[in-house]
Parts: sequence; structure tokens; C-alpha cells
Amino acid sequence: MNLWDIKRIKLANSNFIINTDILIVGAGIEGLLCAYNLSSKYKVTLIDKDKVSAGITSNTTAKISYIQKNVYSNIYKYHNILTAKKYLDSQIAGTNILLDIITKNKIDCDLENVDSYLFASTKKGNKVLRKEKQCLEKMGIKCTDSKLPISFPNLKCFYVKDTYTIHPLKFTYGILELIKDRVNILENTNLIKVKKSYDRYIIKTNKGIMLAKKVIITTNYPYFIKPFYIPLKTYVLKEFVVTGKYKIDKHFSAINVEEDSKSIRFYQDNIIYTSNSNRINNYSKVQESYKKCREDFIKYFKTEPTYLWNNQDVCTYDGIPYIKSKDNLYVITGFNGWGLTNSAICSKIVCDLINKTDNKYTKLFCKDRVSLYYLGFILVNMFYNIKGYISGYLYKNKIIYSKNIKGLKCNVYEDKNGLHIVNSKCPHMKCNLIFNEEEHTWDCPCHASRFDIDGNPLIGPANVSIKVEDEKS
Ligand SMILES: Cc1cc2nc3c(=O)[nH]c(=O)nc-3n(C[C@H](O)[C@H](O)[C@H](O)COP(=O)(O)OP(=O)(O)OC[C@H]3O[C@@H](n4cnc5c(N)ncnc54)[C@H](O)[C@@H]3O)c2cc1C
Repeated sequence: MNLWDIKRIKLANSNFIINTDILIVGAGIEGLLCAYNLSSKYKVTLIDKDKVSAGITSNTTAKISYIQKNVYSNIYKYHNILTAKKYLDSQIAGTNILLDIITKNKIDCDLENVDSYLFASTKKGNKVLRKEKQCLEKMGIKCTDSKLPISFPNLKCFYVKDTYTIHPLKFTYGILELIKDRVNILENTNLIKVKKSYDRYIIKTNKGIMLAKKVIITTNYPYFIKPFYIPLKTYVLKEFVVTGKYKIDKHFSAINVEEDSKSIRFYQDNIIYTSNSNRINNYSKVQESYKKCREDFIKYFKTEPTYLWNNQDVCTYDGIPYIKSKDNLYVITGFNGWGLTNSAICSKIVCDLINKTDNKYTKLFCKDRVSLYYLGFILVNMFYNIKGYISGYLYKNKIIYSKNIKGLKCNVYEDKNGLHIVNSKCPHMKCNLIFNEEEHTWDCPCHASRFDIDGNPLIGPANVSIKVEDEKS
């Protein structure tokens, strides 16, 4: 449960249809927006292994902003100023798409126009901030020097106008209301395997086989490795979110430029604070991160935490998401913690690809961005993945033990409900799983898959259960 929890929309009985034009897998913000764009022209089926909007989107902080840490100076460094400007324009276009959907359809999602602050808390950060400001100004954005409007450690700061905040679930449920009569939506339907056969895809799910001419994977992180090799090209960042009661005259949003993200926004009389961002392979104990987050929150905002949760997102080396496509299979991933504007623009691009319509941002998101930086990133990423693998391999925990069942090494945890036995390896790429004592989940230190205590997949890329039956049962 978190601050966003609202009554879920009950879907009328949907039918398991075998044949569809387009199958969209994953009903987070990206999947819903793809369905919204495509369903007026095609027969669309949208499936989710869970409920609609129960994944990463339900735990977001929901800022609609083109201020995204130091993304523009990074793109300038990795590519050039024209690419940085193209990305900026795409984020403004993404903002406008969202505003248009909200106003045209009168979606009540507590949309607020707020100023966005970018700040630095260290001398090193100050240099980064200066570069980002120069870059934004070069691209025609007005940046106003200022101090943060609340007491929070910052050395330098500026703000920009025309950015927004929303209630994420009020928005996604609003989209769901609009599409539910024209899209076949199947909850609790897990994609297990997708395979091309002649002019169609054969899709294996836990509910049966489906056939589709085109498949769009919007599961945040695809379960398969080939053909796009996403695990090589991305990493996963985990962040911790705390909320508490806080009254302020004028809401704003803010984020720092330093690697350890600190972000602030407001919702009604609540402050929402995000911190302790961590590359998943740098697995630091969740319990410690929660503790640090809670302590910082009380220290800075002098209020008691009401909700505390963590969330994760897929990141690319240059801050630009990937749209990959081959033979009518489309994958959208790598939102870098900025999935609102990016899902708006990426869903439009995929819709235009399917309709064979030009889109001026297609090249930016779809083209391979190979460079020396990119190759360097892949090497560093491989290093982190190996580090994650080794940390899983060496991992010891006194409250779980190993058991060999029919030649399979299993992890066993015992609580008042009995034994919970799971495969010790993640089915995605065979990394050893770590037991998360705080949340009682099995977590992969390589690519961030998570499983509940009984081995059911919670967050991908892994998409199959790791539950193992005991020999005696
Ligand atoms: C702490 C934090 C704060 C953030 N704040 C912001 C912000 O302020 N602004 C912003 O723009 N972005 C923010 N983001 C990023 C944003 O929340 C995400 O990029 C976005 O929500 C991702 O949406 P999605 O649709 O890709 O993923 P999801 O919402 O996770 O949707 C994917 C869906 O796929 C389903 N699925 C997975 N595997 C399968 C399968 N095998 N079969 C069927 N279904 C499957 C899942 O159940 C899920 O519902 C933040 C991220 C984090 C971590």
C-alpha cells in the first residue's frame, strides 16, 4: 500500500480471444497508452500478469517534467547538441500528449502545473548543474537562478516553468475507462513465451495460446534476451520513496544532479521524497536503505513518515529509452526514471511505426546509438552483472538454507506458514537469488527480477515461477 492507493476499476468479464491483430503485453502506463493509440483502428488485446497498473507505475512519483537530472549535458557529451535538443523536444511533445489526453477526455488525475527545480548539494554537483543550465539555455529554455523554496541542503539551484505533477493511478485508470470497451483486457494473464510462426506470433500464456499479427512488449523489462540483448544495454536502478504530512503554500517539484538521487514533490498536504538510489548490482541491504530514508526524511522535513516503499526502473547509458522492433515484434524499455513523458512519446512512435506514418522522433529512440561511450558502458555493465552474479553466489543468510531436490539446488525459508522452497537461481539468466529479509521476497542481484516468498514472479524480466515442490509432498 502507498500514497496512491485508490479503488481499482473492476473489469467486466473479458474473453480469452485466441486471434488478435495486436497483442500488448503489460498494462502499465506504456501498455495502456499503446492500447489507447491503437485501439481505434485495430483489434487490440492487452494482457497483464497482474492487475492493470499494478507494476512500476503504481509506485512512481508521477512528475511530468523535461527536467531530468543532467540528461541534456550527458546526451551532449555522448552525442551532440542536436540530439540533446531532439530529446528535449520529445519530452515537451510527451508532456503535451499527456496534457491533451487529460484535458480532452476530462481525466480527473489532480493535474498541477508546478515549477521544477534542479539543484546541487555538493561542489562536484555544482559543476554538473552549471553545465546542465548552459545546455538548457543553449536549447532555448529559460532557467531562473533561485534557492529551493524549502529548507533542504542545496548549494545552487535554478527552476524552469511548465512542468506538471499528477496522481498516477487516477491517470491510468482514466485511460482504462476510455479503452475498456474497445480493447480486450485480460488481467492475471502471464506471457510465458512468444514465438514467430509464418506471418503470426504464437503466444504462450498461463491461460492458453494466443495468436497475434503484431506483439508489443511493454513489461518494463522484456523476459527474453535475443533478439535485442536488453540485459547488456541496460541496468536497473532502485529508489526509496517516503511520504509524510507537510503543508506548503505553493507546490513545486525538485531533483538534484548528484548520482544519489534526491527528489521532492507534493501531493495535496503530503510531501513525497525519493532518495537512496542504487544500481541493483550494487545490492545494499533494503532494510538499511529504508532506515536511512526514514531518518533523512524526519531530519529534513520534521514530519513522521506515513508511507515508505521502493521502486525500480530500467536505465540506458545515455538517458534515452529504447524502442526496438523486428518482424512485427516491438519492445519499449529504458525509461531511466522518466516513464511518463517517455511512455507518451514512445507509444506514439510505435503507433506510427505500425501505421507506417512518419514521426520525427523515431530515429532518436529506435536507431542503434553505437559509440565508444556505448561500448564502454557495455563493458562496465558486464562488470556489474558479473559482480551481481558473484555477490549472489557468495551470498549467505542464516535464516535460509539450501536443499537439493531431484538434483536442483533450492533455497528454503521457514516461517509460521511452513516451508517456502524455491529454485536458488533466477530463470532469466541463472543468477543466484538473494533473500530480501525486509520484504520477504527473492531478488535477483543481476537484472532485478523479484519473486514473492512462494516463488511467484513479481517484477520482471523473469516471467516464470521458481516454486519447487518438496520431495515428500
Ligand atoms: C522511485 C521512482 C520514481 C519515479 N518517478 C517518476 C516521475 O516522477 N516521473 C516519471 O516520468 N517517471 C518516474 N518514474 C519512472 C516511471 O514510474 C516508470 O518508467 C514507468 O512507470 C514504467 O511504466 P511501464 O509501463 O514501463 O512499467 P509497469 O508499470 O511496470 O508496467 C509493466 C506491466 O507489465 C506487466 N508484466 C510484466 N511481465 C509480464 C508478463 N510476463 N506477462 C504479462 N504482463 C507482464 C506487469 O505486471 C506490469 O503491470 C519513477 C521510477 C521510480 C523507480
